[in-house]
Amino acid sequence: MKLEGIHHVTAITGDAQGNVDFYVDRLGLRLVKKTVNQDDPTVYHLFYADEKGSAGSDITFFEYPGATRGRAGAGMVHRVLWRVGSEDSLDFWAERLGVERSGDTLVFADPEGLEHELVVDTTGEEPLSAEHPEVPREHALRGFHGVRAFTSDPEQSTAFLEGLGFEPGWVARGESRSGTYEYDAAPEGAGVPGAGTVHHVAWGSSREEHEAWRERAAELGARPTPIIERFYFKSIYFREPSGVLFEIATLGPGFTADEPLETLGERLSLPPAFEPLREQVEPKLTPIRNPREAWSRT
Ligand code: ZN
Repeated sequence: MKLEGIHHVTAITGDAQGNVDFYVDRLGLRLVKKTVNQDDPTVYHLFYADEKGSAGSDITFFEYPGATRGRAGAGMVHRVLWRVGSEDSLDFWAERLGVERSGDTLVFADPEGLEHELVVDTTGEEPLSAEHPEVPREHALRGFHGVRAFTSDPEQSTAFLEGLGFEPGWVARGESRSGTYEYDAAPEGAGVPGAGTVHHVAWGSSREEHEAWRERAAELGARPTPIIERFYFKSIYFREPSGVLFEIATLGPGFTADEPLETLGERLSLPPAFEPLREQVEPKLTPIRNPREAWSRT
């Protein structure tokens, strides 16, 4: 039983339009699902990914309109790492984003301070890329490489991560995808959740093994939630010993469960349990302009 790398990463934004503009228009990801936070259906949950909405490429944001900026601290993911095709791709993104390369990676932040890092992909795994008229295919982001988290004591998580099958270092290596999980020394002062901070990182599981992962997490001393039906996948949540909120999410059914691939993310998607609330919910949500609509018209 192995985790299939990173399934998705979920962060917080205070500015849905600014978020769409950055992740779609600048980074070249596809908005693959525009839905609501199932724990608070008055706000958006936005999902960006490759062209197909694949797990492994999916960064998602809860919108809290006007939320003030947070700050990553111990027990929080503070950086998201993405794969690109080559050194030339790093140069392309350095130019496009107006940042300097730092050795063989490129570090930058989104408009709310969420840190990203691009690394050259040497895994041989399938590239998970979206299309953007200004981003040549060979330079497009290829999905997640991993995440980095802050901890005050990495040793406290060792047995737990080993128990979840992470290879030393740490790497979750599944049948088709791998994802890294690395620690950095936590800064002074507690973390503050808010705009520009990561809420949780989700690791991928086959649908068949999902229940067994819940049992495994419990055996290792975590307190997993019951299996939660998220409609696009099923989820369990628990904190690993360093305090980082982990989710284990199933690979499928996926984002085409309620709309066709061609029009993913264009209309507000509400899972069946929330559909009766559409008339109440939709007028309260911030209208979003998707830059992709302008490209397809030209
Ligand atoms: Zn999640």
